[in-house]
Amino acid sequence: MHTRIISRLRKHRGQLYSLALCLLGFSLFAAYGIRELASLSAVTWGWIAAMSSASLILTVFAFQLPPQGNGLSLDSAAYLAAIFVFGTSFTLLALLCCSILSLLIERRGAPWRHLINFAVYCIMITAASLLFTMLGGRQGPLLTSYLGAYVAAMAVYFMLNLLLIGFYHYIVHREKLYDTLKGMVTDTILAYLCTLVLSLVLTTLLYYNHFVGLLLFLCLSTFISYSFKRLFSMYRVIEDRANRDQRTGLYNHSYFETALEEEMHKSQQGAGYPLSLAMIDIDNFKRYNDHFGHLKGDGLIVFLAELLSKETAGTGMILSRYGGEEFTLLMPGYDTAAAGQFMEKLRRSLNNSPFEGTEIFPQGCLSFSAGIAGYQPDIHSKSELVEHADQALYYAKRQGKNLVHIYGHQPQLEQELDFSQDVRDIEQQLSLFMYKDRETFKHSKRVFRYALDISERLGLDNLTKRQFSLGALIHDIGKLEIPWNILNKQDKLAPEEWEMVKWHVTWGKEMALTGGKYKELTPYIELHHERYDGKGYPYGFKGEEIPRLCRMLTIIDSYDAMTSERPYQPTKSVAEAICELRSCAGSQFDPELTELFIRYIEDREQALSRAAI
Ligand code: GH3
Ligand code: MG
Ligand code: MG
Repeated sequence: MHTRIISRLRKHRGQLYSLALCLLGFSLFAAYGIRELASLSAVTWGWIAAMSSASLILTVFAFQLPPQGNGLSLDSAAYLAAIFVFGTSFTLLALLCCSILSLLIERRGAPWRHLINFAVYCIMITAASLLFTMLGGRQGPLLTSYLGAYVAAMAVYFMLNLLLIGFYHYIVHREKLYDTLKGMVTDTILAYLCTLVLSLVLTTLLYYNHFVGLLLFLCLSTFISYSFKRLFSMYRVIEDRANRDQRTGLYNHSYFETALEEEMHKSQQGAGYPLSLAMIDIDNFKRYNDHFGHLKGDGLIVFLAELLSKETAGTGMILSRYGGEEFTLLMPGYDTAAAGQFMEKLRRSLNNSPFEGTEIFPQGCLSFSAGIAGYQPDIHSKSELVEHADQALYYAKRQGKNLVHIYGHQPQLEQELDFSQDVRDIEQQLSLFMYKDRETFKHSKRVFRYALDISERLGLDNLTKRQFSLGALIHDIGKLEIPWNILNKQDKLAPEEWEMVKWHVTWGKEMALTGGKYKELTPYIELHHERYDGKGYPYGFKGEEIPRLCRMLTIIDSYDAMTSERPYQPTKSVAEAICELRSCAGSQFDPELTELFIRYIEDREQALSRAAI
């Protein structure tokens, strides 16, 4: 019960603080503002009207100060001068009139804002005025003998201003009090000093030149306000220009660095507040440039920039051109799973965007690869996060491009097993697919990763593990021999074409035997299309006649074909693919190995969904 009250109070601490300010401000007004109300002469009322109008004009001409845009109005100069010439009651009444007038004029703002503003001014005016009289200051002309009292009154007025507003930021926005105050002081000190001097100038003008003095002051201070206003808007324009990339209008690299630092700082402060970074690189951009020239290439960069801006508008993400044809997307509030989903959506959206000349790309459409890295408390420098995203991007490129990869999601086993040189050699051969049939390349890489995981499940020894995984990677190598038009044919294959496709297992075996190096991998290449019921090819082997791991490879191969995104076939969901595997267990697949594989997939899915929570 007790903790619930505390948490409610915490939730409403901004309102509670405002309420306390209002109570204090109104009490001070009641105590000092209406004290002399009955005895005020018509001339004094005239002055009150004049001073409140002057304050109102100065409020209207409030301006913002660079770099943070803290608001400042010179009306404080009018209130301080009123304290020095006319006293507390007069100044509070002028404040009241000004507040009522501004409430009537500016109906857009919430009325409670006016109330809080009024209360804060009441506190500052009363404190400054009381201190002024306590230190021997008397209402009237500007006298050097009261210098200490003037300075003390002005100092307390502004210190209260800083504290009352700074404290609000501290409890509502949870900013550090010291940092907030320091920021406010450094940003506004010059303007505050200007206001202080102006209040003393107005004191003299009011005392000796009355209404004419007030008028002169008004002219002077509105000009100053106006100049500050212009200065600030110019500052904003120049600042914005310095932060933008000219060609695309997106933020530039240097702004990205600053924003990254700020966002990482926020995530450090608000423990558990997620932050992800995506690095995006257009696939095969050089080819587009070479084909159509740099001007058209620039057009493609602008096109992608516009698409990314449109898709990220209103999400709070920070999109920048990192350089050349590379972009970064800073995603505050997104963990890597959410960032991955978002990037996948973007990737598909780009794939589906028509653009002139896309037929020269291997997939016939625009595409990018992206690497995502999530902020972790043990990441201390921004370059570390960028490095992670970059590594993930590199990984996505190596997997065949048009991919989004999350840093840290590559299987450990791939790094641990000491056959990386073999993997690179085979990848080198497979990279020929990049131009012929990119999907086969990507498929081979995925099947390789499944095989690594399954090796672990089956508890294979290192040598068998190596052979099985490499066999999985190389299993489709024979497809390189299939003519391009058959490999990429969109319609159903004619019977003779289908016969040719079937030959890939035999061609693949011969290719592997040629070098001699991958001799032991030939069963995987040759037998991965055999079926458990003997209706497969090339030999029609049945059941145990097919080596066990080849039977496993057939299952992996088919599962990946069902679940991967292929241009002219519907993709199955994991559940649908599991269903299909089960229905073919005993006919196409080894039933025992099918169940083992399904258990692996289910565990993997569970682990993925746990990671996404
Ligand atoms: P990958 O799929 O591996 O990313 O290959 P890629 O061809 O896209 O190659 P990479 O990303 O390494 O190189 C991008 C090329 O983009 C290099 C440079 O010639 C070109 N480029 C960089 N900046 C600009 C630019 O502002 N305008 C144009 N037209 N081309 C640019
Ligand atoms: Mg690049
Ligand atoms: Mg590129």
